[in-house]
Amino acid sequence: MRILVVEDEALIAQSIKAALQEAGFVPEVVSDGNTAWFQGGTEDYAAAVLDIGLPQLDGLSVLRNWRQEKVNMPVILLTAKGSWSERVDGIDAGADDYLVKPFHMEELIARLRALVRRSGVERTPQMAAKGLILDTRQMKVSVDGAPIKVTPLEFRLLNYLLHNRGRVVSQEELATNIYYQDQEPDSNAIEVLVGRLRRKLKAKIIETRRGFGYLIEADDPT
Ligand code: CA
Repeated sequence: MRILVVEDEALIAQSIKAALQEAGFVPEVVSDGNTAWFQGGTEDYAAAVLDIGLPQLDGLSVLRNWRQEKVNMPVILLTAKGSWSERVDGIDAGADDYLVKPFHMEELIARLRALVRRSGVERTPQMAAKGLILDTRQMKVSVDGAPIKVTPLEFRLLNYLLHNRGRVVSQEELATNIYYQDQEPDSNAIEVLVGRLRRKLKAKIIETRRGFGYLIEADDPT
């Protein structure tokens, strides 16, 4: 799941990036307001982490522009310590949550997960379909109760398909959402990855729609 990280302080940006990767997200870091405005408006992200003090265009203006252009992804603002007026302005501008600097990475991750959950269909850190259960807090996968060992990349693929269950996801969309910015996957990388996962899961959970992509069917509502 891609997360846009907008932060101009390189050290903070790096630690956010590392924490997000560790938590199974695919972060993309940009460091100025104009690039952020453009990226957020033209690319698909599950959420954004947005600093307020940015070069070129400040975070609040970026957020206002996004909301005006109907860019509706959940946004967490990073605000300066003690600046309550920034927080009020931020909520007014359309922020979903905010964190006061300096903050703990664990708190950022927890809030980000909650936001992504609220914007999707699931209400718990666990997602399930077809006997597959994925726990995004403990990074664990099981099928019919039996734990399955997966790599971080495999976890991100299952996470993305489950988050979008019931919808066919193309190979390109999968690749952009599970590989990091600086990784160039081979053309058949997704196919290989899905093949490996299918063998591990030992159940027909990931379906192929030839020419279109892959899907995990949603469970029938009962
Ligand atoms: Ca800043």
